[in-house]
Amino acid sequence: MKRILITGGAGFVGSHLCERLLNEGNEVICLDNYFTGAKKNIIKLLDNPYFEMVRHDVTESYYAEVDEIYNLACPASPVHYQHNPIKTIKTSVMGAINTLGLAKRVGAKILQASTSEVYGDPAVHPQPESYWGHVNPIGIRSCYDEGKRCAETLFMDYHIQNKVAIKIIRIFNTYGPNMNPSDGRVVSNFIVQALKGEDITIFGDGLQTRSFQYVDDLVEGMVRMMHSDPSFLGPVNLGNPNEFTMLELAQAVIGLTNSKSKIIHLPLPQDDPKQRQPDISLAKEKLNGWEPKIELQEGLSKTIAYFESLL
Ligand code: NAD
Ligand code: UDP
Repeated sequence: MKRILITGGAGFVGSHLCERLLNEGNEVICLDNYFTGAKKNIIKLLDNPYFEMVRHDVTESYYAEVDEIYNLACPASPVHYQHNPIKTIKTSVMGAINTLGLAKRVGAKILQASTSEVYGDPAVHPQPESYWGHVNPIGIRSCYDEGKRCAETLFMDYHIQNKVAIKIIRIFNTYGPNMNPSDGRVVSNFIVQALKGEDITIFGDGLQTRSFQYVDDLVEGMVRMMHSDPSFLGPVNLGNPNEFTMLELAQAVIGLTNSKSKIIHLPLPQDDPKQRQPDISLAKEKLNGWEPKIELQEGLSKTIAYFESLL
């Protein structure tokens, strides 16, 4: 039995990871300040004696004897990470320093949840890990993008300088149950709007693309990465390469919910990436043939069922 710390464990992805690692017979410490996470996401785990919930902010140091750390603490939706940009960058950078310091002190292996946002508004398509990105350092998305880029640098430097065992994953747009209905990201927005019969808000012309990954596929990739060959540090892309325009996504959601909602267009936010699609050849090669299994229609259906149960 391993003792595993998951920062941001009460959030959307973290709550699925907590459940998976508990089911595999581990002891899990879930650390969260509940900024975008919720007790509701992990409430069913609270009866398990091997599960421990800690209310804590990663910008302050935390100490516990653990074997592995998954560092997920950081708001991921543009609406939330732009709410307090200084706090967002502190969470990424000071959160990385504090969790890496803990890993160094107790000899734990540590995985960083980085993001496709390190590629910015990419000039290379699809994006391989070797692409250095196209990020505006002073725009409204910079607190997130540059915070995550700096965290990757810190992970590499703690490995080189202090021999900390690190892993870096770059997550592409992921969706599924336990997303907050007011999360602000496109999949949850469209589903909630469709179920309530409200207008579906497409930003810009809707021809911008994203590649959507169902959360179970991501969690499988994260666990495989943690257990990958010690010489493989990443960064590695984890995403579903099937790419859709936001118009196609809106139509799929309207179809699956039989909604009478109509599509409206709102202004496109500044620096909104025009396209995004992961090159997952490295993940396939290094993570025992890992690739996403759940396609959009199936994943959307499961997510719609979750939101129906809330509304
Ligand atoms: P989320 O917002 O649902 O979860 C983030 C969690 O971190 C929340 O529970 C929040 O309360 C917690 N948190 C935020 N700031 C904190 C702080 N200072 N101290 C302690 N806890 C804090 O988002 P998510 O989609 O579950 O994302 C999880 C991780 O994966 C994030 O690091 C995110 O950047 C990364 N990621 C997610 C996606 C995606 O599409 N879901 C894509 C790329 C990267
Ligand atoms: N988007 C949209 N309507 C919404 C929310 C988002 O059209 O109600 C668009 C947004 O402009 C972007 C895409 O959907 O082009 C994905 O946005 P999201 O916030 O989910 O993630 P990110 O931009 O970080 O990939």
